[in-house]
Amino acid sequence: MRYAVHMSKEKSSTLRLYNTLTKREEEFHPMKGKHVGMYTCGPTVYGRPHIGNYSSFLMADLLRRWLEVLGYEVRHVKNITDVGHLVADRDEGEDKVEKQAKEEQVDPLAIARKYTEQYLADEKILNMLEPYARPRATETIKEMIEIVQVLLKKGHAYETEDGIYFSVETFPAYGALSGNTLKNLSAGARVEVDEMKKHPADFALWKKCVGNNSMHLLRWSYPAGERISTTGKDEHAGFPGWHIECSAMSRKFLGEQIDIHTGGEDNIFPHHECEIAQSESGSGKKPFVHTWVHRRRINLGEEKMSKSLGNVFTLSDILDKGYGAQDLRYYLLSVHYRTNLKFTWKGLDDAKKARRKITEWMEEIRKWESKEGKEGNECKESRQKFFDAMNADLNTPAALAVLFDAAAWSRNVKQWSQEGLAALQSFAETARATFGCFESGEEEGIPSEVQKLLDARKAARANKDFKESDRLRTEIGKKGYDVKDSVEGQKARKM
Ligand SMILES: [Zn+2]
Repeated sequence: MRYAVHMSKEKSSTLRLYNTLTKREEEFHPMKGKHVGMYTCGPTVYGRPHIGNYSSFLMADLLRRWLEVLGYEVRHVKNITDVGHLVADRDEGEDKVEKQAKEEQVDPLAIARKYTEQYLADEKILNMLEPYARPRATETIKEMIEIVQVLLKKGHAYETEDGIYFSVETFPAYGALSGNTLKNLSAGARVEVDEMKKHPADFALWKKCVGNNSMHLLRWSYPAGERISTTGKDEHAGFPGWHIECSAMSRKFLGEQIDIHTGGEDNIFPHHECEIAQSESGSGKKPFVHTWVHRRRINLGEEKMSKSLGNVFTLSDILDKGYGAQDLRYYLLSVHYRTNLKFTWKGLDDAKKARRKITEWMEEIRKWESKEGKEGNECKESRQKFFDAMNADLNTPAALAVLFDAAAWSRNVKQWSQEGLAALQSFAETARATFGCFESGEEEGIPSEVQKLLDARKAARANKDFKESDRLRTEIGKKGYDVKDSVEGQKARKM
Protein backbone atom coordinates (compact mmCIF):
# COMPACT_ATOMS: atom_id res chain seq x y z
CA MET A 1 0.00 0.00 0.00
CA ARG A 2 1.32 3.44 -0.85
CA TYR A 3 0.42 6.55 1.02
CA ALA A 4 -0.33 9.89 -0.43
CA VAL A 5 2.33 12.43 0.32
CA HIS A 6 0.93 15.36 2.17
CA MET A 7 2.48 18.54 1.07
CA SER A 8 3.42 21.21 3.45
CA LYS A 9 0.67 23.79 3.78
CA GLU A 10 2.55 26.06 6.11
CA LYS A 11 5.20 28.48 4.94
CA SER A 12 8.26 26.37 4.73
CA SER A 13 11.92 27.16 4.34
CA THR A 14 13.50 26.86 0.88
CA LEU A 15 15.58 23.83 -0.01
CA ARG A 16 19.29 24.52 0.15
CA LEU A 17 21.84 22.14 -1.32
CA TYR A 18 25.60 22.08 -1.21
CA ASN A 19 26.86 22.51 -4.76
CA THR A 20 30.22 20.83 -5.41
CA LEU A 21 30.78 23.23 -8.31
CA THR A 22 30.45 26.47 -6.36
CA LYS A 23 31.57 24.86 -3.09
CA ARG A 24 28.80 26.41 -1.09
CA GLU A 25 25.25 25.80 0.01
CA GLU A 26 22.75 27.43 -2.32
CA GLU A 27 19.01 27.85 -2.54
CA PHE A 28 17.70 25.37 -5.03
CA HIS A 29 15.60 26.75 -7.88
CA PRO A 30 15.02 24.61 -10.95
CA MET A 31 15.19 26.14 -14.43
CA LYS A 32 11.56 25.36 -15.26
CA GLY A 33 9.18 26.11 -12.44
CA LYS A 34 8.25 22.96 -10.61
CA HIS A 35 10.05 20.61 -13.02
CA VAL A 36 13.39 19.14 -12.02
CA GLY A 37 15.75 17.30 -14.37
CA MET A 38 18.03 15.06 -12.36
CA TYR A 39 20.75 12.68 -13.52
CA THR A 40 22.43 10.00 -11.43
CA CYS A 41 25.52 8.11 -12.53
CA GLY A 42 24.39 4.53 -12.25
CA PRO A 43 26.36 1.36 -11.77
CA THR A 44 28.94 -0.25 -14.03
CA VAL A 45 27.51 -3.73 -14.33
CA TYR A 46 30.50 -6.04 -13.96
CA GLY A 47 29.82 -7.23 -10.43
CA ARG A 48 27.44 -6.70 -7.59
CA PRO A 49 27.69 -3.15 -6.28
CA HIS A 50 28.83 -2.85 -2.69
CA ILE A 51 27.02 -0.91 -0.03
CA GLY A 52 29.30 2.08 -0.58
CA ASN A 53 27.92 2.33 -4.12
CA TYR A 54 24.41 1.98 -2.78
CA SER A 55 24.91 4.76 -0.29
CA SER A 56 25.30 7.17 -3.18
CA PHE A 57 22.26 5.78 -5.07
CA LEU A 58 20.26 5.99 -1.85
CA MET A 59 21.22 9.60 -1.37
CA ALA A 60 19.92 10.33 -4.88
CA ASP A 61 16.72 8.46 -4.07
CA LEU A 62 16.28 10.45 -0.86
CA LEU A 63 16.86 13.74 -2.68
CA ARG A 64 14.30 12.81 -5.32
CA ARG A 65 11.75 11.79 -2.68
CA TRP A 66 12.30 15.03 -0.81
CA LEU A 67 11.88 17.11 -3.98
CA GLU A 68 8.60 15.29 -4.56
CA VAL A 69 7.44 15.99 -1.02
CA LEU A 70 8.15 19.65 -1.76
CA GLY A 71 5.85 19.40 -4.77
CA TYR A 72 8.41 19.18 -7.57
CA GLU A 73 7.93 16.91 -10.53
CA VAL A 74 11.22 15.09 -10.85
CA ARG A 75 12.45 13.57 -14.08
CA HIS A 76 15.11 11.25 -12.73
CA VAL A 77 17.47 9.51 -15.14
CA LYS A 78 19.79 6.80 -13.93
CA ASN A 79 22.05 5.08 -16.42
CA ILE A 80 23.55 1.62 -16.67
CA THR A 81 27.19 1.52 -17.78
CA ASP A 82 27.68 -1.70 -19.69
CA VAL A 83 30.70 -0.79 -21.82
CA GLY A 84 33.66 1.58 -21.86
CA HIS A 85 34.40 1.85 -18.15
CA LEU A 86 38.04 0.85 -17.94
CA VAL A 87 39.74 -0.41 -14.81
CA ALA A 88 41.01 2.31 -12.47
CA ASP A 89 38.80 4.83 -14.33
CA ARG A 90 41.56 5.43 -16.87
CA ASP A 91 41.86 5.67 -20.64
CA GLU A 92 44.09 2.62 -20.81
CA GLY A 93 43.53 -0.84 -19.47
CA GLU A 94 40.82 -3.42 -19.63
CA ASP A 95 37.12 -2.77 -19.88
CA LYS A 96 35.59 -3.75 -16.53
CA VAL A 97 32.71 -5.63 -18.13
CA GLU A 98 34.91 -7.47 -20.62
CA LYS A 99 37.42 -8.40 -17.93
CA GLN A 100 34.67 -10.02 -15.89
CA ALA A 101 33.34 -11.74 -19.03
CA LYS A 102 36.74 -13.33 -19.54
CA GLU A 103 36.83 -14.49 -15.95
CA GLU A 104 33.37 -16.04 -16.16
CA GLN A 105 34.03 -17.18 -19.76
CA VAL A 106 30.85 -15.73 -21.17
CA ASP A 107 29.85 -12.97 -23.55
CA PRO A 108 30.27 -9.42 -22.14
CA LEU A 109 26.62 -8.66 -22.80
CA ALA A 110 25.65 -11.70 -20.75
CA ILE A 111 27.73 -10.30 -17.90
CA ALA A 112 26.06 -6.93 -18.27
CA ARG A 113 22.64 -8.55 -18.29
CA LYS A 114 23.34 -10.71 -15.27
CA TYR A 115 24.64 -7.89 -13.11
CA THR A 116 22.02 -5.44 -14.31
CA GLU A 117 19.32 -7.83 -13.19
CA GLN A 118 20.98 -8.30 -9.85
CA TYR A 119 21.37 -4.57 -9.45
CA LEU A 120 17.70 -3.93 -10.25
CA ALA A 121 16.65 -6.57 -7.72
CA ASP A 122 18.85 -4.94 -5.08
CA GLU A 123 17.36 -1.54 -5.87
CA LYS A 124 13.89 -2.94 -5.34
CA ILE A 125 14.78 -4.57 -2.05
CA LEU A 126 16.28 -1.25 -0.95
CA ASN A 127 13.00 0.46 -1.82
CA MET A 128 14.43 2.86 -4.39
CA LEU A 129 11.91 4.58 -6.64
CA GLU A 130 11.86 3.67 -10.31
CA PRO A 131 13.54 6.39 -12.40
CA TYR A 132 11.93 8.10 -15.36
CA ALA A 133 14.50 6.47 -17.66
CA ARG A 134 17.27 3.95 -17.25
CA PRO A 135 19.38 4.22 -20.42
CA ARG A 136 22.10 1.69 -21.17
CA ALA A 137 25.37 2.86 -22.66
CA THR A 138 25.30 0.13 -25.32
CA GLU A 139 21.94 1.46 -26.51
CA THR A 140 23.02 5.09 -26.72
CA ILE A 141 26.09 4.76 -28.96
CA LYS A 142 24.69 6.84 -31.83
CA GLU A 143 23.98 9.75 -29.51
CA MET A 144 27.53 9.57 -28.17
CA ILE A 145 29.06 9.62 -31.64
CA GLU A 146 26.90 12.62 -32.47
CA ILE A 147 28.54 14.61 -29.66
CA VAL A 148 32.01 13.34 -30.61
CA GLN A 149 31.50 14.64 -34.12
CA VAL A 150 30.35 18.04 -32.93
CA LEU A 151 33.43 18.22 -30.71
CA LEU A 152 35.70 17.33 -33.63
CA LYS A 153 34.05 19.94 -35.81
CA LYS A 154 34.40 22.63 -33.19
CA GLY A 155 38.07 21.83 -32.62
CA HIS A 156 37.60 20.46 -29.11
CA ALA A 157 38.65 16.96 -30.14
CA TYR A 158 41.28 15.32 -32.30
CA GLU A 159 41.98 11.89 -33.68
CA THR A 160 45.04 9.74 -32.98
CA GLU A 161 46.03 6.24 -34.03
CA ASP A 162 44.10 4.66 -31.20
CA GLY A 163 41.13 6.92 -30.66
CA ILE A 164 39.50 10.32 -30.51
CA TYR A 165 40.44 12.54 -27.61
CA PHE A 166 39.04 15.64 -25.98
CA SER A 167 41.54 18.46 -25.88
CA VAL A 168 41.40 19.91 -22.39
CA GLU A 169 43.35 23.01 -23.42
CA THR A 170 40.35 24.11 -25.49
CA PHE A 171 38.22 24.28 -22.36
CA PRO A 172 39.55 26.91 -19.95
CA ALA A 173 37.08 25.97 -17.20
CA TYR A 174 38.56 22.48 -16.92
CA GLY A 175 39.16 21.77 -13.24
CA ALA A 176 36.43 24.04 -11.89
CA LEU A 177 34.55 21.14 -10.29
CA SER A 178 37.41 19.11 -8.87
CA GLY A 179 40.14 21.67 -8.45
CA ASN A 180 42.26 19.67 -10.91
CA THR A 181 42.95 22.58 -13.21
CA LEU A 182 45.58 22.08 -15.89
CA LYS A 183 48.01 24.07 -13.79
CA ASN A 184 47.41 21.91 -10.74
CA LEU A 185 47.49 18.75 -12.80
CA SER A 186 50.85 19.45 -14.35
CA ALA A 187 52.23 20.05 -10.87
CA GLY A 188 50.81 16.77 -9.57
CA ALA A 189 51.25 13.22 -10.70
CA ARG A 190 47.69 12.16 -11.42
CA VAL A 191 48.06 11.87 -15.17
CA GLU A 192 50.32 9.62 -17.14
CA VAL A 193 52.10 10.88 -20.21
CA ASP A 194 50.88 9.46 -23.47
CA GLU A 195 52.93 10.44 -26.50
CA MET A 196 49.93 10.53 -28.77
CA LYS A 197 47.95 12.97 -26.67
CA LYS A 198 48.40 16.71 -27.02
CA HIS A 199 48.09 17.18 -23.29
CA PRO A 200 48.44 14.45 -20.65
CA ALA A 201 44.98 15.29 -19.25
CA ASP A 202 43.23 14.82 -22.61
CA PHE A 203 40.75 12.01 -22.31
CA ALA A 204 39.26 9.44 -24.66
CA LEU A 205 35.90 10.05 -26.30
CA TRP A 206 36.23 7.07 -28.58
CA LYS A 207 38.65 4.15 -28.37
CA LYS A 208 39.51 2.32 -31.55
CA CYS A 209 39.82 -1.43 -31.50
CA VAL A 210 43.54 -1.41 -32.23
CA GLY A 211 46.63 -2.32 -30.23
CA ASN A 212 45.72 -3.36 -26.71
CA ASN A 213 42.06 -2.99 -27.59
CA SER A 214 42.16 -5.09 -30.75
CA MET A 215 40.35 -7.90 -28.97
CA HIS A 216 37.62 -5.71 -27.48
CA LEU A 217 34.43 -7.66 -28.12
CA LEU A 218 31.85 -4.90 -27.80
CA ARG A 219 32.50 -2.63 -30.76
CA TRP A 220 30.60 -0.35 -33.09
CA SER A 221 31.26 1.07 -36.51
CA TYR A 222 32.18 4.73 -36.62
CA PRO A 223 30.44 7.04 -37.32
CA ALA A 224 27.40 4.88 -38.14
CA GLY A 225 27.29 3.44 -34.63
CA GLU A 226 26.21 -0.06 -35.67
CA ARG A 227 27.26 -2.99 -33.53
CA ILE A 228 29.80 -5.06 -35.46
CA SER A 229 31.72 -8.25 -34.84
CA THR A 230 35.45 -8.57 -34.25
CA THR A 231 35.93 -9.76 -37.82
CA GLY A 232 34.26 -6.72 -39.32
CA LYS A 233 36.69 -4.39 -41.10
CA ASP A 234 36.44 -0.78 -40.05
CA GLU A 235 39.55 1.08 -39.01
CA HIS A 236 37.51 3.46 -36.87
CA ALA A 237 35.51 0.73 -35.18
CA GLY A 238 35.63 1.04 -31.44
CA PHE A 239 33.78 1.79 -28.28
CA PRO A 240 33.00 4.95 -26.31
CA GLY A 241 34.97 6.44 -23.46
CA TRP A 242 33.21 6.25 -20.12
CA HIS A 243 32.66 10.00 -19.68
CA ILE A 244 30.96 10.64 -23.02
CA GLU A 245 28.33 8.06 -22.10
CA CYS A 246 26.83 10.17 -19.33
CA SER A 247 26.99 13.36 -21.42
CA ALA A 248 24.99 11.60 -24.15
CA MET A 249 22.52 9.81 -21.91
CA SER A 250 21.70 12.89 -19.88
CA ARG A 251 21.28 14.98 -23.02
CA LYS A 252 19.00 12.41 -24.61
CA PHE A 253 16.50 12.42 -21.77
CA LEU A 254 17.01 15.75 -20.01
CA GLY A 255 18.33 18.13 -22.63
CA GLU A 256 21.56 20.11 -22.74
CA GLN A 257 21.21 21.63 -19.30
CA ILE A 258 20.08 19.88 -16.18
CA ASP A 259 19.19 20.96 -12.67
CA ILE A 260 20.87 18.29 -10.57
CA HIS A 261 23.55 15.71 -11.21
CA THR A 262 24.42 13.27 -8.45
CA GLY A 263 27.13 10.71 -7.87
CA GLY A 264 29.65 9.45 -5.39
CA GLU A 265 32.60 11.68 -4.51
CA ASP A 266 34.88 9.33 -6.45
CA ASN A 267 33.04 10.43 -9.60
CA ILE A 268 34.07 14.08 -9.24
CA PHE A 269 37.38 13.48 -10.99
CA PRO A 270 37.91 12.59 -13.70
CA HIS A 271 34.37 11.49 -14.60
CA HIS A 272 32.27 14.55 -13.84
CA GLU A 273 34.98 17.04 -14.68
CA CYS A 274 35.15 15.46 -18.14
CA GLU A 275 31.37 15.36 -18.52
CA ILE A 276 31.27 19.13 -18.00
CA ALA A 277 34.04 19.75 -20.54
CA GLN A 278 32.36 17.66 -23.24
CA SER A 279 28.81 18.76 -22.65
CA GLU A 280 29.50 22.48 -22.43
CA SER A 281 31.90 22.44 -25.38
CA GLY A 282 29.39 20.49 -27.43
CA SER A 283 26.28 22.50 -26.65
CA GLY A 284 27.93 25.87 -26.16
CA LYS A 285 25.65 26.30 -23.14
CA LYS A 286 26.73 26.92 -19.58
CA PRO A 287 26.28 25.42 -17.15
CA PHE A 288 25.71 21.81 -18.14
CA VAL A 289 24.59 21.17 -14.56
CA HIS A 290 23.33 23.72 -12.05
CA THR A 291 23.78 21.74 -8.87
CA TRP A 292 26.28 18.94 -8.39
CA VAL A 293 25.52 16.75 -5.39
CA HIS A 294 28.05 14.15 -4.26
CA ARG A 295 27.85 11.54 -1.56
CA ARG A 296 30.96 11.14 0.55
CA ARG A 297 32.32 7.65 0.57
CA ILE A 298 31.91 4.97 3.17
CA ASN A 299 34.86 3.75 5.15
CA LEU A 300 35.45 0.43 6.73
CA GLY A 301 37.55 1.31 9.73
CA GLU A 302 40.12 3.77 8.46
CA GLU A 303 40.03 2.53 4.89
CA LYS A 304 37.75 3.44 2.05
CA MET A 305 35.35 0.67 1.09
CA SER A 306 36.37 -0.28 -2.43
CA LYS A 307 36.25 -3.28 -4.65
CA SER A 308 39.90 -2.94 -5.59
CA LEU A 309 40.89 -3.06 -1.91
CA GLY A 310 38.69 -6.11 -1.44
CA ASN A 311 37.05 -4.80 1.73
CA VAL A 312 33.49 -4.53 0.56
CA PHE A 313 30.11 -5.74 1.72
CA THR A 314 27.25 -6.42 -0.62
CA LEU A 315 23.56 -6.42 0.20
CA SER A 316 23.70 -10.23 0.61
CA ASP A 317 26.38 -9.93 3.27
CA ILE A 318 24.04 -7.65 5.20
CA LEU A 319 20.92 -9.81 4.73
CA ASP A 320 22.83 -13.00 5.59
CA LYS A 321 23.62 -11.55 8.97
CA GLY A 322 19.94 -11.10 9.72
CA TYR A 323 19.54 -7.39 9.00
CA GLY A 324 16.79 -6.11 6.79
CA ALA A 325 17.32 -4.02 3.69
CA GLN A 326 15.40 -1.22 5.38
CA ASP A 327 17.83 -1.36 8.32
CA LEU A 328 20.68 -0.78 5.90
CA ARG A 329 18.75 1.97 4.17
CA TYR A 330 18.12 3.66 7.50
CA TYR A 331 21.78 3.31 8.50
CA LEU A 332 23.13 4.80 5.29
CA LEU A 333 20.65 7.67 5.36
CA SER A 334 20.97 8.42 9.06
CA VAL A 335 24.36 10.01 8.54
CA HIS A 336 24.55 13.28 6.63
CA TYR A 337 25.54 12.61 3.04
CA ARG A 338 28.54 14.91 3.23
CA THR A 339 30.04 12.99 6.16
CA ASN A 340 32.21 9.92 5.75
CA LEU A 341 30.27 7.11 7.32
CA LYS A 342 32.43 4.64 9.20
CA PHE A 343 30.63 1.38 8.69
CA THR A 344 30.45 -0.84 11.78
CA TRP A 345 28.16 -3.74 12.67
CA LYS A 346 27.42 -2.00 15.94
CA GLY A 347 26.25 1.01 13.95
CA LEU A 348 23.99 -1.21 11.88
CA ASP A 349 22.63 -2.80 15.07
CA ASP A 350 21.76 0.61 16.45
CA ALA A 351 20.17 1.57 13.16
CA LYS A 352 18.04 -1.55 13.21
CA LYS A 353 16.73 -0.74 16.70
CA ALA A 354 16.13 2.90 15.89
CA ARG A 355 14.30 2.08 12.68
CA ARG A 356 12.09 -0.43 14.48
CA LYS A 357 11.17 2.19 17.10
CA ILE A 358 10.03 4.74 14.55
CA THR A 359 8.21 2.15 12.46
CA GLU A 360 6.31 0.89 15.49
CA TRP A 361 5.36 4.41 16.43
CA MET A 362 4.10 5.07 12.91
CA GLU A 363 2.01 1.90 13.05
CA GLU A 364 0.71 2.75 16.50
CA ILE A 365 -0.52 6.24 15.68
CA ARG A 366 -2.56 4.96 12.76
CA LYS A 367 -4.74 3.15 15.27
CA TRP A 368 -5.15 6.05 17.67
CA GLU A 369 -8.53 7.66 18.00
CA SER A 370 -9.40 11.25 18.59
CA LYS A 371 -11.82 12.57 21.15
CA GLU A 372 -13.19 15.97 21.95
CA GLY A 373 -9.89 16.84 23.58
CA LYS A 374 -7.84 19.82 22.63
CA GLU A 375 -4.44 18.27 22.83
CA GLY A 376 -1.83 17.34 20.29
CA ASN A 377 -1.18 20.66 18.63
CA GLU A 378 2.59 20.36 18.92
CA CYS A 379 2.61 18.65 15.57
CA LYS A 380 2.87 21.85 13.60
CA GLU A 381 6.14 22.59 15.30
CA SER A 382 7.56 19.09 14.68
CA ARG A 383 6.57 19.26 11.07
CA GLN A 384 8.21 22.63 10.64
CA LYS A 385 11.41 21.38 12.26
CA PHE A 386 11.44 18.32 10.02
CA PHE A 387 11.03 20.44 6.90
CA ASP A 388 13.70 22.87 8.06
CA ALA A 389 16.12 20.01 8.69
CA MET A 390 15.56 18.37 5.31
CA ASN A 391 15.72 21.72 3.55
CA ALA A 392 19.07 22.43 5.20
CA ASP A 393 21.05 20.38 2.68
CA LEU A 394 19.19 17.17 3.58
CA ASN A 395 20.16 17.17 7.23
CA THR A 396 18.85 13.67 7.88
CA PRO A 397 20.26 13.23 11.41
CA ALA A 398 18.32 16.32 12.51
CA ALA A 399 15.18 15.18 10.68
CA LEU A 400 15.32 11.77 12.37
CA ALA A 401 15.82 13.43 15.75
CA VAL A 402 12.55 15.30 15.15
CA LEU A 403 10.81 11.96 14.59
CA PHE A 404 12.12 10.50 17.86
CA ASP A 405 11.05 13.63 19.63
CA ALA A 406 7.57 13.43 18.07
CA ALA A 407 7.28 9.78 19.11
CA ALA A 408 8.03 10.81 22.69
CA TRP A 409 5.70 13.77 23.07
CA SER A 410 2.82 12.29 21.11
CA ARG A 411 2.65 9.30 23.44
CA ASN A 412 2.09 11.65 26.36
CA VAL A 413 -0.98 13.18 24.81
CA LYS A 414 -4.05 11.94 26.72
CA GLN A 415 -6.88 13.09 24.49
CA TRP A 416 -6.30 13.86 20.86
CA SER A 417 -8.29 16.49 19.08
CA GLN A 418 -9.39 15.37 15.64
CA GLU A 419 -7.32 18.03 13.97
CA GLY A 420 -4.25 17.34 16.09
CA LEU A 421 -4.30 13.63 15.37
CA ALA A 422 -4.89 14.10 11.64
CA ALA A 423 -1.93 16.48 11.51
CA LEU A 424 0.28 13.98 13.34
CA GLN A 425 -0.72 11.11 11.05
CA SER A 426 -0.16 13.20 7.97
CA PHE A 427 3.25 14.28 9.24
CA ALA A 428 4.23 10.66 9.89
CA GLU A 429 3.22 9.71 6.34
CA THR A 430 5.35 12.52 4.94
CA ALA A 431 8.33 11.30 6.94
CA ARG A 432 7.67 7.75 5.81
CA ALA A 433 7.56 8.79 2.16
CA THR A 434 10.76 10.79 2.61
CA PHE A 435 12.92 8.09 4.13
CA GLY A 436 11.41 5.01 2.52
CA CYS A 437 12.54 2.75 5.33
CA PHE A 438 9.61 2.71 7.73
CA GLU A 439 7.45 0.16 5.98
CA SER A 440 6.05 -2.33 8.45
CA GLY A 441 4.98 -4.74 5.75
CA GLU A 442 1.82 -5.73 7.55
CA GLU A 443 -0.53 -4.15 5.10
CA GLU A 444 1.56 -4.88 2.07
CA GLY A 445 0.81 -8.56 1.89
CA ILE A 446 3.53 -11.17 1.80
CA PRO A 447 4.91 -11.87 -1.68
CA SER A 448 4.13 -15.37 -2.92
CA GLU A 449 7.79 -16.47 -3.07
CA VAL A 450 8.13 -15.55 0.62
CA GLN A 451 4.83 -17.23 1.42
CA LYS A 452 6.09 -20.45 -0.17
CA LEU A 453 9.15 -20.40 2.08
CA LEU A 454 6.92 -19.67 5.08
CA ASP A 455 4.74 -22.66 4.25
CA ALA A 456 7.80 -24.88 3.90
CA ARG A 457 9.08 -23.62 7.22
CA LYS A 458 5.76 -24.32 8.89
CA ALA A 459 5.91 -27.89 7.61
CA ALA A 460 9.52 -28.27 8.74
CA ARG A 461 8.62 -27.11 12.23
CA ALA A 462 5.67 -29.48 12.37
CA ASN A 463 8.16 -32.27 11.58
CA LYS A 464 10.50 -30.90 14.25
CA ASP A 465 13.16 -30.39 11.58
CA PHE A 466 14.63 -27.29 13.20
CA LYS A 467 17.76 -27.30 11.09
CA GLU A 468 15.62 -26.92 7.96
CA SER A 469 13.44 -24.40 9.69
CA ASP A 470 16.50 -22.28 10.50
CA ARG A 471 17.76 -22.55 6.96
CA LEU A 472 14.39 -21.35 5.68
CA ARG A 473 14.43 -18.46 8.13
CA THR A 474 17.72 -17.33 6.56
CA GLU A 475 16.21 -17.66 3.08
CA ILE A 476 13.21 -15.61 4.14
CA GLY A 477 15.60 -13.07 5.66
CA LYS A 478 17.37 -12.73 2.32
CA LYS A 479 14.06 -11.73 0.78
CA GLY A 480 13.77 -8.97 3.35
CA TYR A 481 11.37 -10.59 5.83
CA ASP A 482 11.73 -11.40 9.47
CA VAL A 483 9.93 -14.36 11.08
CA LYS A 484 8.74 -14.47 14.66
CA ASP A 485 7.35 -17.59 16.31
CA SER A 486 4.57 -17.30 18.85
CA VAL A 487 1.79 -19.46 20.26
CA GLU A 488 -0.34 -18.48 17.28
CA GLY A 489 2.31 -19.74 14.90
CA GLN A 490 4.89 -17.91 12.80
CA LYS A 491 4.46 -14.31 11.79
CA ALA A 492 6.43 -12.61 9.03
CA ARG A 493 7.01 -8.92 8.60
CA LYS A 494 9.13 -6.79 6.37
CA MET A 495 12.46 -5.95 7.96
ZN1 LIG B 1 28.37 9.02 -15.12
